[in-house]
Amino acid sequence: MIDNPVPWPDGKKVAVAITFDVDADSILHTDHGQRAHRKVATHSMLRYDRIAVKRICDMYRRFGIRQTFFVPAWYMEQHPDIVETILRDGHEIAHHGYIHESPNAQESLEDERYWLEKGIDIIERMTGAKPRGWRAPLYHFSEFSADLLIDAGFLYDASLMGDDVPYMIKTANGELIELPSHWGMDDWNHYAHISDMGSDVPTKAPDDAMRVFMS
Ligand SMILES: [Zn+2]
Repeated sequence: MIDNPVPWPDGKKVAVAITFDVDADSILHTDHGQRAHRKVATHSMLRYDRIAVKRICDMYRRFGIRQTFFVPAWYMEQHPDIVETILRDGHEIAHHGYIHESPNAQESLEDERYWLEKGIDIIERMTGAKPRGWRAPLYHFSEFSADLLIDAGFLYDASLMGDDVPYMIKTANGELIELPSHWGMDDWNHYAHISDMGSDVPTKAPDDAMRVFMS
């Protein structure tokens, strides 16, 4: 059915990446600014990420799996212990904005570059290496994003949805590997009942969400 299959090593038929966006309460601050601290219950729920990340790392250690965590740099600065937990087991930390700002909401290429570079600096300082990958907050990849990522030396993006298999993004500045995502494979749609964020989807059973992922 797929007419451009990727030649995976050793004749393997498919590769799967289950990745995690550790947004935590960054999204509350981008939505509510100075009033974010008043949303105490939502804040507590979003800060549950620190419980979840440790649990995921424990589970992955048992299975010997390494994956990627896309983390807003603002959150990394406040939670260096979570960064250590992720890195200790050899997982990758990739760029997910500074405070989950939308690239599409920026006024110019320079504004988007400012946030991208701010995040790169923090990731480099806290992990010892520049990030290799980026996922646009909210998948809001802008018309500037590809060139900015290529200029900054990124290897891949994971925000676009243009194919079933990885593909190349080419611009006048160079190229970038696209590891495509899809809203249909995202768990936000199934579980993110957060009235303070205007997200009021009815929570589903994991089996229901899994049926969507597998279809
Ligand atoms: Zn996110």
